[in-house]
Amino acid sequence: MTAAAFTPGLSHAQRNISGTPEIQLALRKVNTLGGVLMIAAHPDDENSALLAYYTRGRNVRTGYLSLTRGEGGQNLIGSEQGGLLGVIRTQELLAARRIDGAEQFFTRAIDFGFSKSADETLGKWGREKVLSDIVWVIRRFRPDAIVLRFSGTPRDGHGQHQSSAMLGKEAFAAAADRSRFPEQLRYVEPWQATRLMWNVFSFTRDQEKEAEAMPHRIAVDTGEFNPLLGKSYAEIAGISRSMHRSQGMGASERRGPSVNFLVTIAGQAAEKDTFDGVDLTWNRVKGGEAVGAILAEAERTFDAQHPEKTIPLLLKARPLIAAMEDRLVKRKLEDLDEAIALCAGLWLDARADRYTAVPGSTLKIDLEAINRSHHPLHRPVYRVSGAGHSVSGGAQTEGANVLGYNEAGHAEFTWEVPADAHYSQPFWLQKPHAADTYDVTDQNLIGAADDVPWLTANFTFDFGGASITFRRPVHFRYVDPTEGEMTRAVVIVPPVAVNLAEHVEIFPREAPKRIEIELKANTADTAGDLRLELPQGWRAEPGLQQFRLSQPGDEQTLSFSVTPPKNEAQGKLRAIARVNGKEISSGMTVTAFPHFPPQATFPPAQAKLERANVVIEARKIGYVMGAGDQVPESLRQIGCEVTLLSPRDLAERNLAEFDAIVTGVRAYNVRPDLRANQQRLLDYVDAGGTMIVQYNVLQGFFGRSDSTELNRIGPYPLKVGRARVSVEEAPVALPDPGHPLLAAPNRITPEDFTGWIQERGLYFASEWDPHYQPVLEAHDPDEKPQPGGMLYARYGKGIYIFTAYSWFRQLPAGVPGAYRIFANMLSARGAGAGARSAAVR
Ligand SMILES: [Zn+2]
Repeated sequence: MTAAAFTPGLSHAQRNISGTPEIQLALRKVNTLGGVLMIAAHPDDENSALLAYYTRGRNVRTGYLSLTRGEGGQNLIGSEQGGLLGVIRTQELLAARRIDGAEQFFTRAIDFGFSKSADETLGKWGREKVLSDIVWVIRRFRPDAIVLRFSGTPRDGHGQHQSSAMLGKEAFAAAADRSRFPEQLRYVEPWQATRLMWNVFSFTRDQEKEAEAMPHRIAVDTGEFNPLLGKSYAEIAGISRSMHRSQGMGASERRGPSVNFLVTIAGQAAEKDTFDGVDLTWNRVKGGEAVGAILAEAERTFDAQHPEKTIPLLLKARPLIAAMEDRLVKRKLEDLDEAIALCAGLWLDARADRYTAVPGSTLKIDLEAINRSHHPLHRPVYRVSGAGHSVSGGAQTEGANVLGYNEAGHAEFTWEVPADAHYSQPFWLQKPHAADTYDVTDQNLIGAADDVPWLTANFTFDFGGASITFRRPVHFRYVDPTEGEMTRAVVIVPPVAVNLAEHVEIFPREAPKRIEIELKANTADTAGDLRLELPQGWRAEPGLQQFRLSQPGDEQTLSFSVTPPKNEAQGKLRAIARVNGKEISSGMTVTAFPHFPPQATFPPAQAKLERANVVIEARKIGYVMGAGDQVPESLRQIGCEVTLLSPRDLAERNLAEFDAIVTGVRAYNVRPDLRANQQRLLDYVDAGGTMIVQYNVLQGFFGRSDSTELNRIGPYPLKVGRARVSVEEAPVALPDPGHPLLAAPNRITPEDFTGWIQERGLYFASEWDPHYQPVLEAHDPDEKPQPGGMLYARYGKGIYIFTAYSWFRQLPAGVPGAYRIFANMLSARGAGAGARSAAVR
């Protein structure tokens, strides 16, 4: 019966649990009152096994509050960074929660990259803002227990980890205090959780010993087998955790015992169980005893072959719950109604005829209800409503008067999309943010993981006197030839997307540059004109261009010649299309991966303009793409011809044609062909070539971590370490100011280290052969100098440079100094420079 109940690897259109286990879990959930909220800093910090244990095993409402969306991490599945990476990780967390059953929340805090101290973290976020968000989520969620993943001490490592626990501790008390964040009390009441716990982790034997001695320590075995699910919670966690694909978090499904420890750090101490002293039954609310008795009977008498027989008992409990005032109970009514829908085998679906809609257009919506039980459904009423906007054209339709077994009811609606509807940008990305927190001002959106759907379908049935309304999102359902049936959200899109190839444009000289704008139609017969808005002193030719696109999906690229001012300057370019008298200055990006529904985002059609003097004496660059970065596009901006080197190129091509060969970030970690052709590359250097190696991570280096393999990254022994400089303003010293890399063709000065973002660098070399010369030296506050970030060596007639500074962040961000230093590396010449291509001036 339960063998196929828990099916991993289902497409996002399907449910992970269905049939009897789903109904029985729903019945248990309705009859359990209580909640637990876990707090940490990032996607992947959560203890998925513990979440599965609470929600699937204890049937309590379970949430994970990740302070950030993980924007600052490294992306292992694509080149998306920053906000887009946050979108991917948000969806990965939601995919994980669909498996472990917990709910997902976030604060407005942004993951700005690795931070060594809580002080730096809290300074960047603004302590009060993030604290208020945690308090808000607690007050809305009303958990009995709050579980912290971190300790709030330097033991946690990452400053953002430390901060999540420090703020979590403060929020535990603040949520109950009327004088803290009183503006929230318009919507919520203060809430005192019973206890605050720490889910202890130990890395060393000493830490283990320390943990064993902690008072009020309780154990939770997430290896416990749940026969209804056919899995243990640790097994479920393996599947859930494997959704964190952008972090390479594929995890095993662990079987056998798996003990977790929790210690109480505030509130009533727990001696045996997370919920010691907490009544998880209906007895905890006034008048609840009768409800509990009815629901217990429903669980006891449930008949897997005839789930509809349970409906009368649920209907008996319903008016009792509906009459209660208690806030804890509000959500229970929804849980009860969903349990009724499951027992009635209700299939309720609302599908739009397409997934994109342009403001001012119309969308057709088909509602379908199928009764897959022998419990007749009376007087169905179908409606569609929108969040803050109305649905015109038959907003209410009555179908057949009764739906019998396997009978379907249909209703069709037409939605006139408001002419002023805003595009479906995720709510946290709608406004530009100044610091390291998102600008979200609608209190009711704070804490939410994702947008609410534009439209909601309401299906109302009469259950023998009780009128119950079930809500479902209006979405697009389609069949993918390889993946099968899928769903995706309906999004409001501009009639024409104005996409910029680059969001940073570097002008290394006074010469004009072609800027291309790609227009992509989202609707038929789109015509209009396009112009560029530029700062004073900048010129575009032509001033205005016409376009005409006949079919949705059609593209047209228009190009402008932009002339910068003579002297160094910065500014902003905006591309503006005008269609039917309306201005459009928004692009559209669809991020699609197999593990979550496609996500549309709408970046402003803007680019940063940077007129900075960058001299480069290299033209032809070979690039070995690693895990994914945008360095090649950046190098093209300063006049390089960049060739992405394929495995075949590395094995066979004559590399002497390149002025320099650059390896992308983590190339040695992900390109076996690069490792295999290392000797060819070193021969290229030996013969007079220039090779630049960007950062690689220590884990999985050459597939293993023994030092002989590590030594092979350069022509002489060199060991990659773990040192990083995470403060982007950390001073950079030049141990040898006369070094050729700092002298020409661009003279490098301290000014070139200003305006950097996120970090200086990561995975610096820890040891190196004396043939290497350290060129730059930096370190985080209160740490010793780290000279291993940029090493230069002559080898044969050529030059080899190891550089773990974060060029992959600085170049796409348009940091002028980073361009100048990178140009110097590319221009570096050994003794064999004679035969190289002419300098680009
Ligand atoms: Zn983390």
